[in-house]
Amino acid sequence: MMLAGILVKPGVIELRETEVPKPSQGELLVKIKAALTCGTDLKAFRRGHPVIPMPGLFGHEFSGIVSEVGRGITRFKKGDAIMAVHSAPCLACRYCRKELYNLCENIMHTKILGAFAEYILLPPHIVRQNVFHKPQNLSFEEAAFLEPLSCVVHGMESLHVKKNDHALIIGSGPVGLLHLLLLKEKGVQVTVMDKHDSKLKVATKLGADFVMLHDSRYSPSPNSSHQGRGHNPSSLLPLDKGRMGGVIIPSPPVEEGKGEGYSKIKNVIEDFDYVFECTGMPEVWEASVNYVRRGGTVVLFGGCKSGTTVSYDTERLHYDEITLKGVFHYTPADVKKAYKLLCSKKLNVSRLISGRFPLKQTQKAFEKLSKGVGIKYAIIP
Ligand SMILES: [Zn+2]
Ligand SMILES: [Zn+2]
Repeated sequence: MMLAGILVKPGVIELRETEVPKPSQGELLVKIKAALTCGTDLKAFRRGHPVIPMPGLFGHEFSGIVSEVGRGITRFKKGDAIMAVHSAPCLACRYCRKELYNLCENIMHTKILGAFAEYILLPPHIVRQNVFHKPQNLSFEEAAFLEPLSCVVHGMESLHVKKNDHALIIGSGPVGLLHLLLLKEKGVQVTVMDKHDSKLKVATKLGADFVMLHDSRYSPSPNSSHQGRGHNPSSLLPLDKGRMGGVIIPSPPVEEGKGEGYSKIKNVIEDFDYVFECTGMPEVWEASVNYVRRGGTVVLFGGCKSGTTVSYDTERLHYDEITLKGVFHYTPADVKKAYKLLCSKKLNVSRLISGRFPLKQTQKAFEKLSKGVGIKYAIIP
């Protein structure tokens, strides 16, 4: 028997005894060594989620040790340390045939959940495509970043981000901060905006060049439509203190790495080459086009509640050639890239882990996250 965390209903996680699954042909049984909380899990914990049925297993970022191997598997053996993601494309549907693997028609309903447990069973299509050997110098916690990092790699894949480009990340949660680590690795100058002071302090520690504190309303800048924007560099969109909350400077700038205050405080909105929307709030989706330069790209990473709509200034999209890019999930090629990045240890992702909880205290980790305390917690069975 094994213990598994079941999300019974919003706000309630129960640990239940269940059978340890037996791997059939092509399957791997993995003993989980580390699992990570994620924004999607938190959404499910707070209010339910369309792709996380309740009551049910949950958690999808993990790494572990192979405990039993199904027939036909040669690439892995009992005792191997592995890292994996929880989905893989079918390779047969019309999207897979067009090599749009992240949009595979089956990828969502053939994914697996249940990382907050002692064991997880990996089905053949995942084993074949998205399971990797964990190198020894990578901790199990770091290895569990493979899934979220794959998402971030995917969003960045088609952008041609170059050294010294300017990027704005809106939203300093786990995903926004992973964007920060990856962009800094590419030599980009990064500004992070968030409405929580404490989260910006984390962004500063992780290497953000600038941070912007925002109030609870990300309302569009009053300059967003006319007034010669895009023709005159001096008409960059300023933070209007009245409407946008302005910039609050809570502590004097300190040297980077000191961890107390902010490295630098940005008080003027530039025309960024790239804007990464990482909040999943429709009003932020709308406001994000106000920060991008002409010809720039807004990456819409944060998923909004289903049924929500947004509207955009046509002038910005047409005359200023702004690209709005929705991104979702990842392809096996993205996962391979993320794997190599993690193995290189360049990103130092463990800095995003705010603490550890034993499996039995999974509920506690989510209660903390619900209160806005912490970025990501590791759940250790
Ligand atoms: Zn996730
Ligand atoms: Zn498919």
